[in-house]
Amino acid sequence: MPEGDTVHLTAARLHSALVGRTLVSTDFRVPRFANADLTGQRVREVIARGKHLLLRTEAGMTLHSHLKMEGAWHLYRPGQRWRGPAFEARVVLVTEPWTAVGFRLGICELLATDREHEVVGHLGPDVLGPDWDLEEAARRLRADAERPIGAALLDQRAIAGPGNSWKNEICFLRGVSPWTPVGEVVDLEAMLGLLKRMMEVNRMIGHQVTTGDTRRGRTHWVADRAGEPCRRCGAPIQRAFQAAGASERVTYWCPTCQPGPAPVGHTAASARPSPGRKAEAAARGGTRRRAGVSTEPR
Ligand SMILES: [Zn+2]
Repeated sequence: MPEGDTVHLTAARLHSALVGRTLVSTDFRVPRFANADLTGQRVREVIARGKHLLLRTEAGMTLHSHLKMEGAWHLYRPGQRWRGPAFEARVVLVTEPWTAVGFRLGICELLATDREHEVVGHLGPDVLGPDWDLEEAARRLRADAERPIGAALLDQRAIAGPGNSWKNEICFLRGVSPWTPVGEVVDLEAMLGLLKRMMEVNRMIGHQVTTGDTRRGRTHWVADRAGEPCRRCGAPIQRAFQAAGASERVTYWCPTCQPGPAPVGHTAASARPSPGRKAEAAARGGTRRRAGVSTEPR
């Protein structure tokens, strides 16, 4: 799932390709905006706000998009073959040098730029944004001191940007069980500072690496590694659902390196045999490919 660093990188690529360019045609393939037309408008800028993308035109319109689980923006030269199926395109923006295509967007809507607050005004400080304010993010997280840190870190109203993988990885790196109540997390500020530094690095390299090892299958400490041995202590990585409801997410953690509360009723996973691991890796590869965000011309 694309997280804040991916979204910021996508915004930067779209911005450099489209800024100052006139839209020579636009095609909105979502029912609500099927008749919308931005032809003739110039692109003023493309920015990210948390996991939201805002493409602003000089005429005062904003195209608001969100990648959700599987969205992606691609950039193509005129006549270049698309790398995604046309039926999955939600919007096509054509300029002379570049065509931008938004595939499988979870949100794709038009609004006046001066009404953007209605769609992003609820967000907390953006880890990668100019408005980043570590103290304010910590204050918002602590406002619900009983809430487990693993659920709180996904609350975009408290802190905008991190997604599920970052949540898992940052809890491991700080040795904190994801079920620890926010109010009991030792040095929450240090956790947020580390999260910020790591997301900044990942924004530049374009894909998520938390271990410092970019080799395939070595990039993460705990995320997507249920049953595999912890890279630090060898204990099997645990997996459980956290934060039931719309925000339910899979949480991964090492019970040895991350002591503290565990989910009620959780039975510790033991090391899994390798065939299962292979199957999961294959399934993961399939998901990753579709969820990938690439605005890089090929
Ligand atoms: Zn461990």
